[in-house]
Amino acid sequence: MMARNSEASSSAGKGQKSFSSRKMIPLIRCVIFDLDDTLFDSLGQRVRPAHRHAAEAMVRAGLNTTVEAAYRARIRAFRRDPMLRHIDPAVWSEFGGGDCDAVCRAARDAYFKCPVGELKLFRGVLPLLRFLHSRGVRVYIVSFGEPEIQRAKVRALGLEGHPGIDQIYYADRDQLLTKEAAFAMIQQQLQLPACEMLIVGDRPMREIRAGKELGMHTVRLRHGEFASQKPRGPEEEPDYEVRHVSEIKALPFTWNGNN
Ligand SMILES: [Mg+2]
Repeated sequence: MMARNSEASSSAGKGQKSFSSRKMIPLIRCVIFDLDDTLFDSLGQRVRPAHRHAAEAMVRAGLNTTVEAAYRARIRAFRRDPMLRHIDPAVWSEFGGGDCDAVCRAARDAYFKCPVGELKLFRGVLPLLRFLHSRGVRVYIVSFGEPEIQRAKVRALGLEGHPGIDQIYYADRDQLLTKEAAFAMIQQQLQLPACEMLIVGDRPMREIRAGKELGMHTVRLRHGEFASQKPRGPEEEPDYEVRHVSEIKALPFTWNGNN
């Protein structure tokens, strides 16, 4: 179920967003979606294979165990904390072998470069894209990861050239393009006020934080690899939290990109 966040009510006092007025429902002319665990189930379809791929790389780089044991250790570490910067060194210290930095770097690269197989969108994504398109709302995707792999995911999901998507941007691990820079670029392109833009994503410290910093509306999809992460402060609290993408359409926004 959707939940309006307490922060949303307290942020109403700032007077920047249109929902500071009790009667006004914010007008949304542009929605920017994250990709992994927002438009498809990355946890179910990608995360396990990626951890196996990373386990293979660790063993190749000198980790003193079998691929299977390294994989199981990665999944155990993942359950404690899903961040790779926690998982890689935790697994290395369990088994040792090779140079810690080199083994962790190999793991990280392999994780992000795991080949893409068949992928399916979340149920509700295509109807939502059709709905937004019919209202003239501009739709963008800003994904994060290894751009080549992210492009392969977009193709595997059938989103490449989709008529309901204006453009797809690829934020990358080397920070050549950050999510925040991509959001700001889209805003400039469209010449829209931030209060008419909505960010939809699953990670408090990434897209939610970036969207809020720019004064945009935010919806968190509580799903997948980072579902357990809690906002570290009000700057990472989304305006709304939903469990399914299909709930977004019913949130109290007015969807209209036409003048
Ligand atoms: Mg994501």
